[in-house]
Amino acid sequence: MVDVIVRERRLRWPIAAHFEASIRGQTVRSIDRRAKYILIRFDAGSLILHLGMSGSLRLVKLDTAPKPHDHWDIRLDSGWILRFHDPRRFGSLHWTESDPALHPLLKQLAPEPLSDAFHAQYLYLATRKRSVAIKQFIMNSQLVVGVGNIYASEALFRARISPRRAARRITRKEAAALAQAIKDVLSEAIKIGGTTLRDYVNADGAPGYFRQKLFVYEREGAACRVCRSPIKQFVQGQRSTYWCSACQR
Ligand SMILES: [Zn+2]
Repeated sequence: MVDVIVRERRLRWPIAAHFEASIRGQTVRSIDRRAKYILIRFDAGSLILHLGMSGSLRLVKLDTAPKPHDHWDIRLDSGWILRFHDPRRFGSLHWTESDPALHPLLKQLAPEPLSDAFHAQYLYLATRKRSVAIKQFIMNSQLVVGVGNIYASEALFRARISPRRAARRITRKEAAALAQAIKDVLSEAIKIGGTTLRDYVNADGAPGYFRQKLFVYEREGAACRVCRSPIKQFVQGQRSTYWCSACQR
């Protein structure tokens, strides 16, 4: 049994007027994710929520008073509240009674990197005729979602490919190595619990430790863990890129 309380409807998009009536009294069936959207599925439909730039979700005890910027609550009959906090209000909350994959926010999204839809052949074919640098190419969310700057740098190091190389110059074998490296880097980061010490805390409030395993990211001047050459840094598409010019070609 679920109840819902909305204190502020003006998020990135206004929360629909019928929203509370749609969800009240229903049971949560599953929780899932697509790109940066969190999907909470009920019998009658699904919530599609996005944390925006500054949003966070916390589980708090039922009698916890809301603080400023606590915009909505989902009250669970287990005695907890799922509470959304967002000072900048770029987060969003939508309700759909159709398949969320068909919602306008989700239906154009590129494959998930850890899904079977993202594979060597997909990456190889997508790179053909593309002269953009391979690092910027794999960070493009129209190719694959969720490969951020850290993971792009690390995956290219593991696949031994220079971040400056034109996407179309990647061989079939390199595309296979890169697709696998992207999957490996992300899987390891998830297992360890994230990378960004500054922003990321897990449910217990502990920081992400994947940073300690990085080969190149933010290691400029330090010795490459493979060949001992100094790691280099340059700016590419307004983002810092880190690489080993001896290991990566
Ligand atoms: Zn090296």
